Amino acid sequence: MDILKSKSEVKERLSKEKIGAIHLLRLQGYGSIKYRCACGQEHDLNGDDVKRLASAKSFKVLLKCQNEYYTMIRIEGFFRKKAISEYGFHESSRENKNKNIST
Ligand SMILES: [Zn+2]
Repeated sequence: MDILKSKSEVKERLSKEKIGAIHLLRLQGYGSIKYRCACGQEHDLNGDDVKRLASAKSFKVLLKCQNEYYTMIRIEGFFRKKAISEYGFHESSRENKNKNIST
């Protein structure tokens, strides 16, 4: 997983994503899926402590944990889903004016 350290890096990566509404992916139906977070811990993407912010093409989800870390994951697998962490960044590296993603 890439950890993005600057606002310009975060902005550039997010600008390449086709961001959509989170409900486009029916995540609840998948049950518990652990993902490796940019904060260094593992969380369940359907857990109460994780905010599911947006979907992206294709089959990607932007998540935010209670430690204020964002992680973009890609969901793979058919019967058994798994989450591949692509990149992440801390709240402080986020461009606040990015209106595509509401928290
Ligand atoms: Zn985390």
